[in-house]
Amino acid sequence: MAIRTILTLDKPVLRTKAKKVSRFDAYLQRLVDDMWETMRAAPGVGLAAPQVGESIRVLVAEYEDQAVALVNPEIIKRSDDEVLGTEGCLSIPGFVGDDVPRARAVTVKARDPRGKEIRVKAEDWFARVLQHEIDHLDGVLFIDRIPKENVRRVEEDELIEEGEVEKVTTGKNGKQEKQPERNERPAASVSPSLPGKGPGGRSSSSRPSSRPSSPLTSATSAISTTSATSAVHSSSTESATAATRGGGR
Ligand SMILES: [Zn+2]
Repeated sequence: MAIRTILTLDKPVLRTKAKKVSRFDAYLQRLVDDMWETMRAAPGVGLAAPQVGESIRVLVAEYEDQAVALVNPEIIKRSDDEVLGTEGCLSIPGFVGDDVPRARAVTVKARDPRGKEIRVKAEDWFARVLQHEIDHLDGVLFIDRIPKENVRRVEEDELIEEGEVEKVTTGKNGKQEKQPERNERPAASVSPSLPGKGPGGRSSSSRPSSRPSSPLTSATSAISTTSATSAVHSSSTESATAATRGGGR
């Protein structure tokens, strides 16, 4: 197994619709193994193959006791109710998006890495992670699903990553409880902590400066350098504040 470089926003592969997998061979097994290792080292809770430069429909995701490696995943059922949540992405280090709408529950049909057909039912936060990752396979990022002003730099003490959490749960109409104000911390209720995460502490010295104006534009330009961002869930920030590395600015 090997840790692969996680590509950032400026790479075209992240904007490309990935191809279906037709061969369940050793190459695929190795890719999946590497993706597990890469995701856990980041640390993250989900990773899609395009994020490591492979434009094929493969993802890994892990939350609590659920860990799945899905090949050619398709959402075959989604709940009518939609929830809003804050998401980050390993490919967009240093930024999060508030109030990203997702179906609260989904059923995904896929194959496992050996080619066996499987179905995964996911709710709440795990459902969000799967939708985020499946989006990657279509070249879609969370920033495409929200207005620009919902994208903000993440504060040093609330780094959030790939597929992060339900922050706000709403009914169908998506009533928003908060404004995307950049200094606001996520509600404490949100973020389920993950066991055993976090090599912890690469240090971070540079706190991003506060420039609320046009966050997306600055995001895009700021992001090109780093390959991976280590991040923690907001609920565990006190003990494990990891950091963006260089995170651009
Ligand atoms: Zn992502």
